[in-house]
Amino acid sequence: MLDYPLIITTTYLISAALLVVGLKQMGSPATARRGNLLASAGLLSAVAITLLDRAILDFRTIAAGMVVGAAIGAMIARTVKMTAMPQMVAIFNGLGGGASALIAISEFLRFSNDRSIDMPLETSVTIMVGTLIGLVTLSGSFVAFGKLQEIVATRAVTFPLQKTISAALFIGIVAASVFLVVEGPELAPFLALVAMCLLLGILLVVPIGGADMPVVISLLNSYSGLAAAAAGFVLNNTILIVGGALVGAAGLILTQIMTRAMHRSLLNVVFGSFGAQASSSSDGGVRSRADVPDGNPEDVAIMLAYAQSVIVVPGYGLAVAQAQHQVRELASLLEARGVNVRYAIHPVAGRMPGHMNVLLAEADVPYDKLFDLDDINDDFERTDVVVVIGANDVTNPAARDAADSPIFAMPILNVDRARQIVVLKRSLSPGFAGIDNELFYRENTTMLFDDAKAGVGKLIAAVSEV
Ligand code: NDP
Repeated sequence: MLDYPLIITTTYLISAALLVVGLKQMGSPATARRGNLLASAGLLSAVAITLLDRAILDFRTIAAGMVVGAAIGAMIARTVKMTAMPQMVAIFNGLGGGASALIAISEFLRFSNDRSIDMPLETSVTIMVGTLIGLVTLSGSFVAFGKLQEIVATRAVTFPLQKTISAALFIGIVAASVFLVVEGPELAPFLALVAMCLLLGILLVVPIGGADMPVVISLLNSYSGLAAAAAGFVLNNTILIVGGALVGAAGLILTQIMTRAMHRSLLNVVFGSFGAQASSSSDGGVRSRADVPDGNPEDVAIMLAYAQSVIVVPGYGLAVAQAQHQVRELASLLEARGVNVRYAIHPVAGRMPGHMNVLLAEADVPYDKLFDLDDINDDFERTDVVVVIGANDVTNPAARDAADSPIFAMPILNVDRARQIVVLKRSLSPGFAGIDNELFYRENTTMLFDDAKAGVGKLIAAVSEV
């Protein structure tokens, strides 16, 4: 006779070990792929063994859910553009939170529909916690998605009494939760709780904008893990608790890394409304193309070919143009001529944490050529040429020098201190923060107005001719 509980517990233990080892291996680019595979194997075995659970009564609904879910997932994975990955991650976070909230809500409804069963105290507390974190993650992540997709304002949106309303909502949620725990599963106050949680998620993310978005995305990622752990407590399922706690902890560590890199505190990010004033000045300050001479690839090629040191600064536009392979090719050409080429990586360059690292790794740029902001910032003044490719906000000197700038105090790469600066982008349009960049108008800046891929292609051809 098979001992199902023993088989399930042992498999959960193995799955948990695979998740921990997989996560550890994802910490280094060299082992990340294997780590991903190990963690996926851990999750697959956890899902498979859970299906053996005798408590599952109807496999047809599960099978239908898996078929529909897998079809939608496969379709999205095949069609989503690499540049839309950050938005997809935001949606994944939101759906993860939503799924956990649904578990908590369905448990609540089970107790509320059958009042003959008593809702134990620990179950009711975990239901409330799961509903709160799950729904805040759901609505907050959809606002983050809207900001990344630029269908809602990317800047911080603030309005009078915003913090007071959020605080009042939070007090209302705590009061409704206490009432439900004490009085039992009443439907009307629970629906009010659900509405307040969804609203709180929206109000927490709307006032966050510009350079603080990466922090918020990693925080929501962490919330989705905590929501899953809460769902694990509701269902009394060990692997959901372990997996959720791992995602929650990993997300928190990433949040901490991002806040430290941006010289911000978490409280400041959540309540500080960084970049809020950007609204009126957004692109109003941008000057016209006629103000700026258009550089030509041949002159830039000579500058690069005879330089001793070159730093490449990649940004979101590099990802849009998918120019990473061309950038690598240009660097190889220059290195063959004895030029020292390095890459400066700003912590929030692109649209997701680690975006530039992933892109450049895809083009096999050696990892020891990539330098974090703090490790390279003092070197710009000793550098012959900096090539800024599709980056904007992360190079904007206003963040360092202009106290009235909406991004003032955000750390930037000091590219303006290099001897020569080349900026490759299609126009003078602003970046995510919506503000003009003084760098484009400097004496020692050459603007190459082009798509990043086409522009680097022209530089490759021109350097080959030098
Ligand atoms: P920016 O968004 O500041 O600027 C990107 C620039 O790329 C634009 O000005 C655009 O100019 C140019 N561009 C777009 N397409 C192309 C193309 N095909 N070829 C060449 N250039 C192109 O990017 P940064 O990387 O400098 O900064 C990232 C910003 O995003 C920061 O404000 C950050 O806070 C925010 N953010 C970052 C997240 C993260 O986790 N990393 C998450 C959410 C937001 P043009 O149209 O003229 O070509």
